[in-house]
Amino acid sequence: HISLSQKVQSLKPSSTVAVTSRALELQRSGVDILSLSVGEPDFDTPPHVVAAAKAALDAGKTRYTNVGGIPELREAIAAKLQRENGLTYAPEAVAVTSGGKQALFNAFFALLDAGDEVLIPAPYWVSYPEIVSFAGGVPVAVPTTPESGYQLDAEALRAAVTSKTKLIVINSPSNPTGAVYPEQTLRAVAELAREKDLLIITDEMYEHIVYDAQHVSIARFAPERTLTINGASKAYAMTGWRIGYAAGPLPLIQAMNAIQSQSTSNANSIAQWAAVAAISDSYEFIERSRAAFWERRDRIVAGLNDLGLPTPTPQGAFYVMADTTSIHPDELEAARIILDEARVAVVPGTDFAAPGRVRLSYAVSMETIEEVLRRFKALLDSR
Ligand code: PLP
Repeated sequence: HISLSQKVQSLKPSSTVAVTSRALELQRSGVDILSLSVGEPDFDTPPHVVAAAKAALDAGKTRYTNVGGIPELREAIAAKLQRENGLTYAPEAVAVTSGGKQALFNAFFALLDAGDEVLIPAPYWVSYPEIVSFAGGVPVAVPTTPESGYQLDAEALRAAVTSKTKLIVINSPSNPTGAVYPEQTLRAVAELAREKDLLIITDEMYEHIVYDAQHVSIARFAPERTLTINGASKAYAMTGWRIGYAAGPLPLIQAMNAIQSQSTSNANSIAQWAAVAAISDSYEFIERSRAAFWERRDRIVAGLNDLGLPTPTPQGAFYVMADTTSIHPDELEAARIILDEARVAVVPGTDFAAPGRVRLSYAVSMETIEEVLRRFKALLDSR
């Protein structure tokens, strides 16, 4: 009998992983499954990034690096934040991590004491509440509605603040809703944070994947109390390389580095050199992938709505949230029916706090989207 810690017993494995593994199992047994459950671009990492990794290997860049990342990458990130986001950071105020997820992990552990409350707009990416709880904090969901395109209401956010509130999480463009918050909302959130003495963690992982909207960094309006988190995974099709980063107030970055020094030590050295190339020069790749995602978004949103599965039009990221109550009122059951009968893997909204909906990732080819829509039609016709 292995007695596991209370901490880990209360940790919920991601339901995204549960659906993906069930789909893989079916696939292995020979069933032809189309997977719209994973959150990663279907493109290959751009060749100039791969070339930079090869060059790093050949040059023997295979040793431990500084905890916070090689100076070349921190400088490239600081330059990027200035150029693309209008944010001014010294390279020392930037920390490189093993994926954006580790940046979030380090940040929540550096900031939260037992009982500290964290406001998270819902539907949310499943890892926020889980990491917050793991760090001893209390996640507090602030609901948004499909009718408003899942836009955050600053007054609803204000109403959720208590004497225990410490942090606000902003994720725009959002996974799973695709909502992109306008400058006006971000200014109001920054104002609220200042008034109530709260900190802001902004996850800008999908900043480059925006359509009929513009991405704005909230740190512009409250730099002294904002930690900006981003990474290479989604923008440069580098999910497996595991490079993320954070920029913010120096004492917080130093605390995050202290945590990292006792856990992973540093992000992979070769991937860091690859990320220098990715972050410094990938405009063509970003524009090409954005155009591809845009076309796919238009097709899948129109297709699902035509089939009678109400789906709001997301402004960013590469996910849609379809209302599947006409298949089954319970989204877990709906996802199971869709997997078993339509042979399409989707993620139930349960863990995203999106009842009655499933999330579909459209980071797949147009042909796959067409086939998914045909399978949904057959499923609906048969019921
Ligand atoms: N933040 C959001 C909103 C995400 O969707 C993801 C990945 O799915 C991440 C962060 C983490 O990405 P990574 O750890 O690959 O950088």
